[in-house]
Amino acid sequence: MPLYLVHYGSEIGLKGKNRSDFIHQLKRNIQVQLPVARVRSLHGRLLVESPRDDLDFSLVFGVAWWARPLVVENPTPQALREAIVVLARQARQDFDQDPTFAVRARRADKAFPWNTLTLERELGASVVQALGWQVNLSRPQVTLHVELVPGRAFLYHRKHPGHHGLPVGSTGRAFGLFSGGIDSVMAAWYMARRGVEVELVHFHAFTQARYADEGRAGKLARHLARYLPRLRVHYFPYHHFQAATLDLSPKEQRYELVVFRRFMARIAETLARQGRGQAIFTGDSLGQVASQTMENIAAVDAAVSLPFFRPLLAFNKQEIIDMGERLGFYQLVLEPYKDCCSIISRNPATRARMDLVEAIEEGIHLPRLLETTLQERETFTYLPTGEVRREAD
Ligand code: ATP
Ligand code: MG
Repeated sequence: MPLYLVHYGSEIGLKGKNRSDFIHQLKRNIQVQLPVARVRSLHGRLLVESPRDDLDFSLVFGVAWWARPLVVENPTPQALREAIVVLARQARQDFDQDPTFAVRARRADKAFPWNTLTLERELGASVVQALGWQVNLSRPQVTLHVELVPGRAFLYHRKHPGHHGLPVGSTGRAFGLFSGGIDSVMAAWYMARRGVEVELVHFHAFTQARYADEGRAGKLARHLARYLPRLRVHYFPYHHFQAATLDLSPKEQRYELVVFRRFMARIAETLARQGRGQAIFTGDSLGQVASQTMENIAAVDAAVSLPFFRPLLAFNKQEIIDMGERLGFYQLVLEPYKDCCSIISRNPATRARMDLVEAIEEGIHLPRLLETTLQERETFTYLPTGEVRREAD
């Protein structure tokens, strides 16, 4: 059965007393997110067996890198000499001619007769002797890795990078405002990478949540769910808010966006309090659009009392897009989508005047509006397997 050697980041390894909790969470997430048969801890790394040979461990936060190793049981120097030549022959398939190489060894088995340096020299010599390759220690075309743990050696030549971070579920739970745009989905991805279990709140301009699910919001949610043990998205219709704000005066309309953000934040906070959430987050980036000013951020913060995070606050738009494109999110936001924020005033106030904001909220009977909207929640659970479940309330 295909075998994977999975290394976690030093951030997990160093977390002291919590270390075993982090590792336990990482193992559990691997089991939930990927089709694996068995996950074992082994001297500071994980050994994973799966019937499949195409697993992508970069979908599991906390993984620093992984490899598909050759395994030598109860290794002796002679057995390693033979195995390194087998490994080199495998690596050769990626090149038109013999590549330059280096051997890099790690040893968690202090009983083995060779120390790290001797391992590298002796095994390097075996490759030179058997295949005639040239050693290049500073810029090798191929690095042959050897890891020794008690009773086993792992050999591999390809290290696949993970996203590091912390296992989802190990640092808390937060509710994010999710617009179906690139910023808020990337904000959720970055929060999750820090180990936060995220749930999302999306306001849609359709008659039913299922149309939002079939559109950009659902597509992004499916893509994001690959990185999480599970992702819940709470869908709410925008139409109650829209109806309540139909006859705002032109002056009041300039505050509608801030009032709507405060409204959304309150809904998210209510869900967070019901669902053991400890914080709220959004995809705001300071100054990115006219409405994302310090004053408006402060006005939205003031509507709720939970901690309010903005993981992208200091990112440039292009940086967010670049990362989103590398991860396959950006491609999904290019399709058109009926976005309720684009319905709201295109000329928003940049400095929210709190007296006006509060007067508008009173005029639209905010508490009642929150209640009617909350009653229309439709929750979809997106699983890393691609399966989607609709929750009956
Ligand atoms: P995004 O790319 O996430 O849409 P944006 O740059 O378009 O962000 P705005 O439209 O100003 O920014 O929205 C700011 C933030 O408000 C979003 O990042 C998101 O967190 C939240 N938000 C906006 N619209 C919605 C919505 N329809 N449902 C839920 N949250 C929303
Ligand atoms: Mg947007």
